Amino acid sequence: MEIVPGLYQLKTPFPGPALPYIIPYAFRGSDGVSLFDAGFGTPEAIEAMTKQLDDLGYAPKDIRRIFISHAHPDHIGMAGWIKEQSPDCDVIMLEREWQWVQDRWLDNTGWTKLSDRWLVTHGVPQEEIDAAHAAGALSPTAPRVKVGETPAALPAGPQGGRNGAPPSFFEPDIKLQDGEVVEFDGWALRAVWTPGHTPGHMCMYEPNHRLMFTGDHVLPYISPNVSLHADQEGSSPLSDFRNSLKKVADFDTWRALPAHEFTIADLRARCNILLHHHDDRLNEVREAVGDGLASGRDVSQRVKWNTGPFDDFNIFMKRSALGETLAHLRYLEDEQRVRRIDEGERIYWEIVR
Ligand SMILES: [Zn+2]
Repeated sequence: MEIVPGLYQLKTPFPGPALPYIIPYAFRGSDGVSLFDAGFGTPEAIEAMTKQLDDLGYAPKDIRRIFISHAHPDHIGMAGWIKEQSPDCDVIMLEREWQWVQDRWLDNTGWTKLSDRWLVTHGVPQEEIDAAHAAGALSPTAPRVKVGETPAALPAGPQGGRNGAPPSFFEPDIKLQDGEVVEFDGWALRAVWTPGHTPGHMCMYEPNHRLMFTGDHVLPYISPNVSLHADQEGSSPLSDFRNSLKKVADFDTWRALPAHEFTIADLRARCNILLHHHDDRLNEVREAVGDGLASGRDVSQRVKWNTGPFDDFNIFMKRSALGETLAHLRYLEDEQRVRRIDEGERIYWEIVR
């Protein structure tokens, strides 16, 4: 579908039931095509991409550059294949996201230990973690890979990342800073750093048509996962996310173009709805702390999840749900609506009345 002259909305399939597809965007150029996000690196997604490029008159070797909103496998997964098809293609992301990829996904030694200790700290029984290891279900890091190679272990990306092909992580050709503008083929895209869903998530603003490419930061119907991860104890991703919502809402935008679902006609209104949604969730999480002390796991067991009760989740979903709960508790702590209590190795929460 052509959004404005020379800009096309593509679709590549999303494996698993979480979402139907991801939406890459293709910019027509004189000597090739540029993409914003691509999709998973599954054979089905690659086939869909090839077919749609063909419809536009391009082959995969004609891809000149690919902007990556963030390093989740449904956005970066196909980049390795694209580099193989078109070796001179520039892979472009925010430097902050690349930093995160290195810290989080490419360090095999530290992460698993840290993540296990973090689960225990927040109330998940050690036996449950041991059982998950015994079943081979906890190997959350991807080794550094060369372009096109497949890492042995699949990272557990949110939104069904484990269902898809593993991402190939490699150093981007161009690492952007917030506010930097990339000009090509008559387009000028401005990088808008929007931390929250990931620490280096990037939206891009196109001023001529007043378009905002929002990646996963703003989606028309669902709310992106915003979690406090084991390696982020000191930060507040929910506070980052809320500030990032206000940041994109301030742009003069005709249409927002997200990576899932459908086009957003009123970006500011959608940002406000998401802010209210999190206000409600903050109240729910605070109430779930109840009287006395509660661990992150206790609170996670007491709040509602769209996907069913917390106790029915597998260990990956539990870790993800716990991360979301903790992102809210951390935010409430900053607002002095709950208090964090450190008791030895364990962390508990209590309502401030
Ligand atoms: Zn994502």
